[in-house]
Amino acid sequence: MLKPADVVVIGSGGLGAATAFYLAKRNAGAVVLVDRHEIGSQTSPRAAGMVSCMRKGELMTRLIKVAAAAIPRFTEETGQPLDCVHSGSLKVARRTQDVEVIEADIARGRRLGLDVEQITLDEAHRLNPFFETEGVAAVMRVGDDMYFDPAQVAVGFARGAAARGVTLLPGTAVTSVRIASGRVEAVETDKGTIATPVVVDAAGAWTRQVAAASGIYIPLAPTMQQLIVTETIPGVRPDLPMVRIMDAAVYVRPCHGGFLCGVYEEEPTFFDMDDLSPGFRIADLKLDAEILWRAAEDVKAQLPILLKAKVREHRGGLRRGTRLNLVERENRARGSCPRLSVGGGKK
Ligand SMILES: Cc1cc2nc3c(=O)[nH]c(=O)nc-3n(C[C@H](O)[C@H](O)[C@H](O)COP(=O)(O)OP(=O)(O)OC[C@H]3O[C@@H](n4cnc5c(N)ncnc54)[C@H](O)[C@@H]3O)c2cc1C
Repeated sequence: MLKPADVVVIGSGGLGAATAFYLAKRNAGAVVLVDRHEIGSQTSPRAAGMVSCMRKGELMTRLIKVAAAAIPRFTEETGQPLDCVHSGSLKVARRTQDVEVIEADIARGRRLGLDVEQITLDEAHRLNPFFETEGVAAVMRVGDDMYFDPAQVAVGFARGAAARGVTLLPGTAVTSVRIASGRVEAVETDKGTIATPVVVDAAGAWTRQVAAASGIYIPLAPTMQQLIVTETIPGVRPDLPMVRIMDAAVYVRPCHGGFLCGVYEEEPTFFDMDDLSPGFRIADLKLDAEILWRAAEDVKAQLPILLKAKVREHRGGLRRGTRLNLVERENRARGSCPRLSVGGGKK
């Protein structure tokens, strides 16, 4: 039996570590942050670290605004370093329908107090000389956007949490959450039981498995996403605005004197974590560089540098997503597995 806790947070990625930190900051009592691997070591440090303030919905745009305002305060709040650059970004439309999206974004962004404007193609090239305007129909500048080093976030929050009294338990796998009469009683781990009335499932790609082991159904199926970082390129400054080519879903930002480039695939690979070994870690993911080369080829008229630069790093991770056929298969299979109710107990 391990020491009892007021709250157990499962998973020390960006979400879990931040949750533990803010619980400690708000004096939530004894908080334990558990991870089966090293602290902050799975998907979170492999992200691009880009903060995009202009979202499709108003609620998300408002939420991102709050999060973006907190990022510059990270070091003051946690006592940990965070390299963050307020570079702004260029959202690039090559198709007529995307020009309409940009026009609507500008109207909505202004209403919500964002620094957004349509700029000329020449101005866009002047702001980021690695961006060429051939084939481009319109460009929106988003002044609020920024990027940070993703490797510093989860670890920084976890260290900040520990400094405020949170117990960190790396190398500790949660096997189930014990629930009786609709109330959480304890978290079972491979190192023993932690008695607790409150649990937070922040297990990233494994969120569904952690919940299912406790009889709760969460319809999540992670998708793979990957990126490259180039070697240093003369002339690349950290404050060059990030570039997003809308129809290609390709993004680029400065990174350690070169560029970081990734793509949101239209048909991403979905993972069922149950098919992977229990010891699977994100570093074991089989990446597919071809996807990135196809994306770079697609945008070569706008970002020709991507096909010329040497690659320094190729990395990827699993982000949470939903896949209808997996969800349907589970719906059929889950039988008595209940959905999570608002109160956190079983229905
Ligand atoms: C290539 C790429 C680029 C991205 N770029 C961006 C971006 O620019 N901007 C953005 O906002 N987002 C981006 N994302 C998404 C972002 O990385 C994720 O949304 C975020 O990192 C998820 O954090 P997490 O804490 O949920 O998961 P993770 O970081 O994976 O943490 C989950 C933790 O739970 C632990 N765990 C799992 N099961 C158990 C168990 N049974 N017991 C104990 N511990 C367990 C794991 O070991 C892991 O450490 C990107 C993702 C990828 C892959």
